[in-house]
This record gives sequence, structure tokens and C-alpha cells, in this order.
Amino acid sequence: MEIQRESMDVDVLIVGAGPAGLAAAIHLTDLIETARGNGTLKGVAASDEFTMMIIEKSAEVGDHMLSGAVLDPIGLDELIPDWKDREPPISDPVKSETMYYLTGKGRFRVPYTPPAMNNHGCYIVSLNQLVKWLARIGEQKGIEAFTGMSGRTTIIENGSFKGIVTDDKGLDKDGHQKGNFEPGMELRSRITILAEGPRGSLTKEAVKRLGMDSGRNPQNYLTGVKELWEIPAGRIKRGTIYHTMGYPLGTSQYGGSWIYAMSDELLSIGLASALNYRDPRFDPHGAFQDFKTHPWIKSLLDGGKMIKYGAKTISEGGYFAVPQLFHDGLLLVGECAGFLNSMRLKGIHLALKTGMMAAETAFEALQKDDYTAKTLSGYHSRFRKSWVFKEMWQVRNFHQGFAKGMIGGIFHTGAQMITGGRGFKARLMATEDHLHMKKLTEMPSARLPIQRKFDGILTFDKLTDVYASGTRHEENQPPHLHVADTDTCLNVCTEEYGNPCLNFCPASVYEMVEDEGGGNRRLQINASNCIHCKTCDIADPYGIITWVPPEGGGGPVYSQM
Ligand code: SF4
Repeated sequence: MEIQRESMDVDVLIVGAGPAGLAAAIHLTDLIETARGNGTLKGVAASDEFTMMIIEKSAEVGDHMLSGAVLDPIGLDELIPDWKDREPPISDPVKSETMYYLTGKGRFRVPYTPPAMNNHGCYIVSLNQLVKWLARIGEQKGIEAFTGMSGRTTIIENGSFKGIVTDDKGLDKDGHQKGNFEPGMELRSRITILAEGPRGSLTKEAVKRLGMDSGRNPQNYLTGVKELWEIPAGRIKRGTIYHTMGYPLGTSQYGGSWIYAMSDELLSIGLASALNYRDPRFDPHGAFQDFKTHPWIKSLLDGGKMIKYGAKTISEGGYFAVPQLFHDGLLLVGECAGFLNSMRLKGIHLALKTGMMAAETAFEALQKDDYTAKTLSGYHSRFRKSWVFKEMWQVRNFHQGFAKGMIGGIFHTGAQMITGGRGFKARLMATEDHLHMKKLTEMPSARLPIQRKFDGILTFDKLTDVYASGTRHEENQPPHLHVADTDTCLNVCTEEYGNPCLNFCPASVYEMVEDEGGGNRRLQINASNCIHCKTCDIADPYGIITWVPPEGGGGPVYSQM
């Protein structure tokens, strides 16, 4: 039955109240107020009817925000010049940093790290707390995010972006309407700013339907798995950061770890692993648990307690994977547009700045009452003139250089450093991550299962970690993981790859179960475990898993993460 939906017109719609979306909202509000103050405000924004709306899928702003994180304050300095006077949740600057290469049992200090990776002047932060603080600043300016509301699909008419349809609420798991059913509404906007974070579902749809990735490299990703640990005081000084390469990833897979002392007793620790791996048994959560068993890491965590868990994907493809940034009625900002410095593994500062540049472009469009791609292309021009472009251009070939492993990547990086980011070729191409996975016939060793034991003190199974993520979903709702063809899972993937979804999901969402008596093997999707990392949407070798937001409000609660 066709659902009757209400339609609402908004002037500016922002999807996602993360750093990019909030920066866009705050900066646009500031620009409007400044123009109002000096008498230059005109057009739509001058009207009392002007509406800017920001929607967020989590129940509270910041709940789904997770990052390492070390913040380069350059973006914050521009967005909120007096941020230090506004009680930010940012305490200590980075005081010391060291990079180690880990062998199975030992470590050695990497004697040289590229200057671009230097974190001098940066701050250890919790992205969750930073975003909550940004939202409070926004509230002081009259900006309120509508939480628990997600975008289900895009509205594209005659090749122009016209808005989105929000999620239906109150459907049961079979799609039938429950007593509390509320249909999603059409939000029709003059300009939509998508700020969904990595692998945004609306961004993916819009980019594909509007051909905005034509001629670009496909986006490549890492999955970062993180825990927060309370440790005995005095073991590691606040402001200390360590990065590692090597164990447990070895030389064939790009990735590394972070260990950040958020206070004398609080450690952010995680492992980011590239999703262009070959072995279908690779398990980002399991690799992270292995990492913690390294004698040095174990000694840091000994006597401590894991208090939080989470995972997210990281858009690592770099400059050449950034899609066209604008279309009629549409702007893309932050990590859903691929804004992440792949060498520094940092994107918060780029999210803030791209949000600001999108706000300036939206302001110009509102003043002119013109929302066509021609006017919105001003965003691209701003990007090209900004420090965001300079920073991303310097590392434009970085991630692609690691396509064949760490050793080749280090050579590429060396060449790129002495040629201003170029390296051996003007543009290194890339392929989608899942195409790198080997079939069991090509990698017979992958038929042998990897057995891990978790002690519940230092290492944890996925379900224990999922509990620590705080994830919650309404159980009786349609699954938000769409597997296009489960016959492929049962009859093809089992044989060809051994069902890698059982491994790559860091939350045990996918399970192969047999009915009682051993008959009828089937794929069971434990959707309520999902922590919204999007790994399955990327790493599935057949590309048949699609992640969409669940009924608004569901998902992890990443306090302090
Ligand atoms: Fe991540 Fe997909 Fe697993 Fe959810 S189902 S936790 S998005 S891999």
C-alpha cells in the first residue's frame, strides 16, 4: 500500500549533526546574523519564514560519534575563534608522541616520521564530547537538531536534488504498521547539505544517481575498532600518544594502532585496518583483540578495565576519491565526501572547514535566490583555494601507494614526500576494497578457521564488546541491513569465500545458523547488535549488503568515545 506522506518545505536542510553538519549550521547562522546586522541581508534568509533544519539519526547529538581522536584545532580556530574561553571538552595538548613498529613480542621506535604526521599543537579529544559541546554552542545561536530522525531516501527530480524522505516509525519486522506508526515525511529543501560521515547512505544514493563519482577513484576505507580503558594512575602521562605499525597486521595489510592518554587514568586505544585485505577470514575486531595481547600493550592495560567499545569506518581514499561536491540543490561535506587526510588519519578539522565553506556557499545562494549547480559550484572554488585542498593534495597518492602492502607503501610515501605528494605517478588509481578479497580456491590456507580465545579481562568476544558499545534498537522493526540475495550467501559465498560477513562485522550481526536437527542452514541477521560502522556495506565481496539507518534513535551510545 502506498504510504501517504506529509511534505514540508525547508530552505536549508542539513543531514547529520556531526562536526561538519554543526559547523555548517553554526557558520551559516553567523553569516546571516552578521549580514542582518550590517543591513546587507536579502533574499530568502531575510524573511521571517526562513527555515534551516538539521536532522540527526541518533537519539542524542553525539551518541553515534566515535574517533581516536587527536584534533588539529585549525578548523575550530576559524569556526569559533574564542573556543578556548567557552569551556570546550578539550584539556591537554599532545605533549609527547612516539611511533613504534611492533613485532610479535617486541617493538622498536620508528626513527623518522613524516613532518605531516607531527601532532604538535593538536589536542586529544573525545569526538562524542566535542560534538555535544558544538551542539550546545549551536543551541545558544538558536540551532536545534531534530534527533532520532534519519533520512531513508533522496528526492531527485529532473536531475536536481530536491530533498529527502525521513524514516517511517512504527513498522514491525515484516514491514506492517504497528499502532504507533508514523510515516516519514518528505523534507523538500532549496539546498541540502549532506554531512552523514563515512559511507553515508543518502550520499551513496545521490552520488550514484547523479553520477557525481564519474572519473574519480572509488572510495577506500579502513575499519577502526576502539576501546576505552580505565588504567591505574601514573602508568602513562596525560597528553602522551603512541602510534604503532606492524603486529598484528604484518606487512601485507595497511593499518596501525593508536594509544592516546586522555587523562592519567583514561586510555583511548584502537586499531585501524584497511578493508582492501585479501584473506576472507580477516576480522577487524579479532585483530584488535590480538593487538592487546602484545606484551607492551598488555603491560599498559594490566589491572585496568575496559569501559567502552565501538567501531567505525574511515574514508581513506584521499583527494582523488572525493566526488563532485555540488549538484543542483546539493552540497557534500565532511567524511561522507571523503574529506580525510589519509596520512594523518585526521578528518575532524576538515569536516569543520568544509562545513563552513558549504555554509558560505549556501549563504551566497540564499542571497541570490539561486540554488543551481552553477551557484553551488562556489563550494568547489572555495575548496580549491583553501588549506583543505593544500592538505589533501600533499597526500593525494598516499593510500593508493599501500595497495600492495606496507613495504611498497613506505617506498611510495618516501617518493611522495620528496615530490610534493606526486610520487612515482601523477595519479595512482584505486579499486574498490572488496575486489581485493581472495577466493578460497586462490588462498587455500583461508579454509582453516582462526580460533581465538578471549579471557574477558584483556580480550573480549564480540558480544561483550557490543554490550559495552551501548547499542540499542527497537527489536520489532524492519531489518536495516538489506541483503539483496541470501541465496548468494548460502549457495555461492559459503563455497567461494566462506561467508566473510561472519568475520568482518565487529558486532556479530551476521550468523549462519542451522535449524534444529541440522537441516536448513540460513543467514541470521542480528540487526539489533549493529553499531553502525558500515563495514559490511563496503567489505562484502559481492556488494549485496546495503546498510540503511534503522528507525531513528537506534544505535550505539558512544559517550566519551
Ligand atoms: Fe558494522 Fe554492518 Fe556489522 Fe552493523 S552489521 S556493525 S554496519 S558490519
